[in-house]
Amino acid sequence: MRRFPPAGSPARPVDRLLARRLDEALARPAAQQPRWPEPEQASAVIGRLHHADPIVAPEETARLSGRLASVARGAAFLLQGGDCAETFAGNTESHLRANLRVLERMAAVLGQAAGMPVVKIARMAGQYAKPRSNAVDTLGLPVYRGDIVNSAERTPAARTPDPHRMARAHANAAGAMELVRGLCAGEVYISHEMLLLDYERAVLWVDAAGPEPRLSSGLAHFPWIGDRTRQLDGAHVAFAELLANPIGLKIGPSVTPEQAVEYVRRLDPHRTPGRLTLVSRMGHTLVRDVLPPIVEKVNASGHEVIWQCDPMHGNTRTSGNGYKTRHFDHVVDEIAGFFEVHRRLGTHPGGIHVEVTGDDVTECLGGSSGIAETDLPARYRTACDPRLNAGQAGELASAVARMLRG
Ligand code: PEP
Ligand code: MN
Repeated sequence: MRRFPPAGSPARPVDRLLARRLDEALARPAAQQPRWPEPEQASAVIGRLHHADPIVAPEETARLSGRLASVARGAAFLLQGGDCAETFAGNTESHLRANLRVLERMAAVLGQAAGMPVVKIARMAGQYAKPRSNAVDTLGLPVYRGDIVNSAERTPAARTPDPHRMARAHANAAGAMELVRGLCAGEVYISHEMLLLDYERAVLWVDAAGPEPRLSSGLAHFPWIGDRTRQLDGAHVAFAELLANPIGLKIGPSVTPEQAVEYVRRLDPHRTPGRLTLVSRMGHTLVRDVLPPIVEKVNASGHEVIWQCDPMHGNTRTSGNGYKTRHFDHVVDEIAGFFEVHRRLGTHPGGIHVEVTGDDVTECLGGSSGIAETDLPARYRTACDPRLNAGQAGELASAVARMLRG
């Protein structure tokens, strides 16, 4: 496969076509992008990243596509998990090891219960960009958008978007991926939200093998579109249409069945089983009502998508003492609702997507150790959303194992 855009040599027709489609996609309105104070600096960084090493190989991504086809057909289960937001400071061997270990432990429990292979995808080696609800924080400072954009520190200088952080993100991701390859005995793929388009466009390959020429991301095996950037006329969906990678799309309770079918048509034009993973994040009180008509309508369209449950993002609340948190019971209940819906409709509850760490944090409430609101300050370490700790992750895996055994 060739690097895109091809350096030096005269552009081939395929490359010219893809370059035009990429320009068109990126000219669309893009939500959640920083405003770089000096755009020419950003251009220089993007130019250098065009020559940077890829983090993942297109051959690995192609292998993942095969694994995900099995998930879509009901013959495998998909487990995705890791930090809400990775940080440069947290990109240490001990943290990565802990997160990979918790993912592998959960996979072992789930695989045994399901009696099928578990495809493991880490939120790792690139999960540095965060969508935010407000542009400014309570002090009136530009909001923290992840280490790839600015610093969480509360000063005007630290919060000013700095495009050089994209180069640091790339270097951190490359280091993390090297560790993943060294530590993992089995296959572990990497994923992040494809949010920051200046970064996502920088490392691409031309994949001319499929039904139409597409671009393969060199930055992640499995990029996903977040709930806040899935506008049908926006840049993120248009960019994802150009990718050869399997992709995820988060869908919250505002998605209608008609919109869901529109997403599926756009993002799975060649009806490739497992090309698209619909990640429902409805909240435990809504999943049983909102998900069924979506599943029915997408199913009737004939596309073989993966149905994955994110039981975290629809269940976020603020504790009495001011911490963003989630209750373990709500997380379990959303997955239970997801399984009930799919069992009733005869579709495969294909996987789960969780925010989890192997570190001993106190960020989510509940679980058998009974984390209470007053326990949250003790070890609340996340850079963004609250994660299950290793104990809660193990209990969640056991609960889901019971659902898989039916
Ligand atoms: C996330 O996965 O961290 C996230 C922001 O999720 P969502 O887009 O579903 O809100
Ligand atoms: Mn999150």
